[in-house]
Amino acid sequence: MEMMLSGNEALARGMYEFGGEFASAYPGTPSTEILETIGRFFKDDIYAEWAINEKVALENAVGASYGGARSLAAMKHVGVNVAADPLMTLSYTGVGAGLIIVSADDPSLHSSQNEQDNRCYGKFASIPVLEPSDSQEAKDFVKYAFEISEEFDTPVLLRLTTRISHSKGLVTIGERETVEHGGFERNITKYVMVPGHAIKRHRIVIERLERLAAYADATELNRIEWNGKKVGIITGSVAYQYAREAMPGASILKLGLGYPLPMKKIREFAAEVGRLLVVEELEGFYEEQIAAAGIPVEGKKFFSNYLELNVDRVREGLVEAGVLSAEHLPASRERAEVLPRPPVLCPGCPHRGMMVALRKQKVFTTGDIGCYTLGALPPLEQIDTTLCMGASIGHAFGIEKAGKTEKKTVALLGDSTFLHSGITSLASVVYNRGTTTTIIVDNRITAMTGGQFNPANERTLMGEETKAIDLEKLCRALGVEHVRKVDPYDLAGTEAVLAEEIARNEPSVIITTRPCMLFPKKVKGVAFHVVADSCIACGACFKVGCPAISASEETNDKGRPKSKIDPAVCTGCSICAQVCPADAIVPPGE
Ligand code: SF4
Ligand code: SF4
Repeated sequence: MEMMLSGNEALARGMYEFGGEFASAYPGTPSTEILETIGRFFKDDIYAEWAINEKVALENAVGASYGGARSLAAMKHVGVNVAADPLMTLSYTGVGAGLIIVSADDPSLHSSQNEQDNRCYGKFASIPVLEPSDSQEAKDFVKYAFEISEEFDTPVLLRLTTRISHSKGLVTIGERETVEHGGFERNITKYVMVPGHAIKRHRIVIERLERLAAYADATELNRIEWNGKKVGIITGSVAYQYAREAMPGASILKLGLGYPLPMKKIREFAAEVGRLLVVEELEGFYEEQIAAAGIPVEGKKFFSNYLELNVDRVREGLVEAGVLSAEHLPASRERAEVLPRPPVLCPGCPHRGMMVALRKQKVFTTGDIGCYTLGALPPLEQIDTTLCMGASIGHAFGIEKAGKTEKKTVALLGDSTFLHSGITSLASVVYNRGTTTTIIVDNRITAMTGGQFNPANERTLMGEETKAIDLEKLCRALGVEHVRKVDPYDLAGTEAVLAEEIARNEPSVIITTRPCMLFPKKVKGVAFHVVADSCIACGACFKVGCPAISASEETNDKGRPKSKIDPAVCTGCSICAQVCPADAIVPPGE
């Protein structure tokens, strides 16, 4: 039987078919649907969980692997940075049952703060990297990954990219295979990485890499597709699809195992073709290693190390390289005029009230990763820094200690992000005698990735009831004596609490109490409307940045547009009514 599956869904199916028993992840685009699919369809056979962050996800999966369960930890590319500490030493301990780390990379930064190429982590950690090129391979490579992991006693990095994670393709469906493994066995020279043990394990890692290199030459994961021999292209991941389409006449060495490279096979391939090119997204990862092995090769000078490739970009590179005639270049296309749609917070979003209230405080706001990052953009313009998950509190503390600005700085982050990596920074603020005010915009969900539960909610990924972390008690336990809760729909109340806590010469935390408008179910209250006769066209309501508010055709005597509210979009949060100086925005019936 065949099914249309995205790469993420196919990978989840692979976990089911090839005996996976444990899966852990922190949600992150483009990886999120892997765990959602496992939790939804395969929870009778595979334990699936949202971990508090990627480091914990990997550590939990490692424990399960040591304990005899085929396991997986999934994350987006920047998540691997968070998990890098256990990863680097995990390479030394090796595994119990097969262990896969999924890195879903995001070339072109569709939804990320950078576009790092995580194949480099494979080389850095001396572990194999598998790179599927479509949904079928996303499933099949799970089998290879488990087998390699168990045969070579190594974690395996299975690298997807956004294009593979989210594109759908036909996948052949099979039955679940059961794989028997024993439980955890004590072996301290393998599992306890004190220096005396680790130094011996490092030698094992180096020898393992040599054996993996021999495997890379032998495995069908790396295959040659012979065509004309004037041009040979080495490629992998989705770039393989682009290269095949752009130049069907070229011979291709397709790499499914992207690290370590099959150098013998590459040498043989290079010897047969007139010109050797590498087509790969982002870094010149293959190219550098091939060139370092003394094989004449070209790549990045024709195919950029910046943004996603596509068929047109690959064709352009091939033309520039002189191996494809210019007639293959895409005809210049008329670009459809699309109205610019800047990203905005949803109508009724509880973060909006806090952003509007912050405006009055004249502070710098260090931000984090989450929906509220949209508050950096006009018209709200209330977020001043965003680096990575959990960085906001450290930034605010650092700016305070630098002592070079009169303006106060507050940190703002979400409930999920606070739990992910904000807790330790808040503890550090208390310990190091900072006075940072931290705002936790608690919308009761991990909203930006699509509404996943987190440890502050009462449900697990598999839908079981659980004990939710009480954020207020947690902050108090960390030593913060001033913890306040505010309703972000109450602007005056929020402003008053902000003013008090920002002025305080001690650490403080403010927690907002309104849930996300979309999760767990969409909230739609009664819509407000603008009384045109009362509206003075001051524009104050436009500055709350609500997509329900727009300019009406009516103008004031200076020709400035009055405002109007789309009742189909408005949720009745009342934020705009509270900023209107003319009381022109009113609920229904007024
Ligand atoms: S009440 Fe105003 S701010 Fe709230 S959703 Fe409606 S239009 Fe937007
Ligand atoms: S804030 Fe009030 S008066 Fe000003 S434009 Fe909006 S509705 Fe009109």
